[in-house]
Amino acid sequence: MAEDGRRLELFTVVPARALVVVAHPDDGDFLAASVLAAWVRQGTRATVCVVTDGDAGSDDPTLPPGALARTRLAEQRAASAQLGVDDVRCLDFPDGMLENTLAVRRAVVRVLRQVRPDVVVTMDPSRYWFDRGYLNHPDHRAAGAATLDAVFPSARDARAFPELLREERLEPHKTRYVLLGAAADDDIAVPITAEDLEAKLRALGEHRSQFDAHDMAPWVWERAREVGLRSGVELAEPYRLFDLAPGPSQREEPGPAAGAEVLVGDPPAPPRPTTDWG
Ligand SMILES: [Zn+2]
Repeated sequence: MAEDGRRLELFTVVPARALVVVAHPDDGDFLAASVLAAWVRQGTRATVCVVTDGDAGSDDPTLPPGALARTRLAEQRAASAQLGVDDVRCLDFPDGMLENTLAVRRAVVRVLRQVRPDVVVTMDPSRYWFDRGYLNHPDHRAAGAATLDAVFPSARDARAFPELLREERLEPHKTRYVLLGAAADDDIAVPITAEDLEAKLRALGEHRSQFDAHDMAPWVWERAREVGLRSGVELAEPYRLFDLAPGPSQREEPGPAAGAEVLVGDPPAPPRPTTDWG
């Protein structure tokens, strides 16, 4: 058990299909790059979906509209390629103005029904701050909230956004697991390898318009080791888990992917603030 006393259950499901939904290009690589690298290495087909166009991510007022969005989408594709992920989608909502509207939820429902993931990774919509020095971006909260609302109930219900079924033949889809990243009350850890962590650093290094990733390696390694200590492995990434297992009336739903396995550790302790993600 780590010095903070919180033990994390180990989450060892390797999904057949995984979907990461985040607000901006680069968020997904902070949130899940090493885990995507680990899953893809084991056969997962993964999709990264960015909800905004990222066009506000600069202090340069002379940039023409759309120029930065194009740069950042190219950076996200290059970053995801470092993880073996070639399915990158942008929903093109305006950066900096994202709200959890029905239009955003509908766009995420469309992706959920197209990708049909076993696991969705998204951002904790409950987080307004991380510590004294960092307020959470409202787009992060909105992307997380819209994704949770899309997973349940809208993607699952045939009568939600019925035109998606009628006009695009997108059948309802029920996602089994949701993982919230940068969560206020993380309770599971996904084991990763040093190779996966190096892939994450290469992915972060592709977001050149946003930051210089060279300084991040010590922080990224330290964090993965600390989470590993809390979960009994060398390296891991922390999340809050929701297991949306079929209820008694839905037993015809498919279960987890063949070979999937969840190791359950000690029950999670009460939440504590975390300060390690931006
Ligand atoms: Zn962001």
